[in-house]
Amino acid sequence: MSFEVSPIGVIRSPYKKNGEVPHQGRFSEEISEIEIFPEFEEGLKDIETCSHLIVLYWLDRAKRDTLKAIPPHDRREHGVFATRSPNRPNPIGFAVVKLLERNGRFLKVKWLDALDNTPVLDIKPYSSKIDSVEDAKIGWFEGERMRELLLKAKEFHGHICPFVALGVRMSVLAMDELGVSRNETATVGEDILAIVECNNCLTDGVQVATGCTLGNNSLIYLDLGKNALTLVRRRDWKGVRVYVDAEKIRERYFDREALELFEKVIVQRKGDEEDLKKISILWENIGWKMLELPREEFKIEIVEVDPIERAPIFENVKCKKCGENAMATRIKDGLCLKCSGGYYAVVGRGIVRFQNGKMEEVVK
Ligand SMILES: [Zn+2]
Ligand SMILES: [Zn+2]
Repeated sequence: MSFEVSPIGVIRSPYKKNGEVPHQGRFSEEISEIEIFPEFEEGLKDIETCSHLIVLYWLDRAKRDTLKAIPPHDRREHGVFATRSPNRPNPIGFAVVKLLERNGRFLKVKWLDALDNTPVLDIKPYSSKIDSVEDAKIGWFEGERMRELLLKAKEFHGHICPFVALGVRMSVLAMDELGVSRNETATVGEDILAIVECNNCLTDGVQVATGCTLGNNSLIYLDLGKNALTLVRRRDWKGVRVYVDAEKIRERYFDREALELFEKVIVQRKGDEEDLKKISILWENIGWKMLELPREEFKIEIVEVDPIERAPIFENVKCKKCGENAMATRIKDGLCLKCSGGYYAVVGRGIVRFQNGKMEEVVK
């Protein structure tokens, strides 16, 4: 068997060296130009009617002698055919690009992630009806994304435990179900809101994984004491609520040793340093296991939520007693709530009220 492939054109891109190429051209706004050689120009007829194209190109600077790849942001090796690594036996690159403009035999496109002077092999129209498979997944990539988030959560939360991991797992389920990505400020992504129903480790997992935090006003806390997360799009207030039965999970996935040690160390506070070390290891192991919990372990429902306002900005008013400024809505008869004696707080057990320095339970 023998065959020959020769380039039909060449890519002019802003990327001159390997390190400059984005891992996914799809998330880049850079513009590249594809020059089609004159003898192939006729083949471009009607291409300007296509909004998106599939471009195949020859990664001429790639290594061809490897069958394993460690993708960016990954720590594990995968077979090259399960990755999009440029280094592979036949280094054919592929990208779905947006066609911005055709000028004779020159095509202006974005989302291309090829080095400058890369030879082009072929171009085909992309069709969202034919080529898009909505529920397509790369298993190792999904897992990697969650592991990455759990490591981030460890930094934020202080340790890896089953519930911080559940927070990550539930967030990813909710984000996928809702078709949204992490709330990153200053990006063009969808504006999302997370509503949690508890203030335990799970809530930290949610904040890290969804990017919805108390400080950026996209975390709402309902004092319900349930392990549940509702993720909502602000655009239409449609959301997904994910609930997990912690008792069931404990029975099915926690080993007896971990549970007994937890009872001794955390609940009764009777463990020594050795126990503490041991439980943190056991706990972390269960945490990693939580990321793999099958979808069936969760109750997932589509919900509609009443709009919740963003943090309104109020002027500051000086308290007559302590002289400190407080938000106007938190001044009563000229006094800040601290000086007037009554205010609410979120503590470990939930929302409580402080009256003249004494904590009162709100829910009795
Ligand atoms: Zn924790
Ligand atoms: Zn005061």
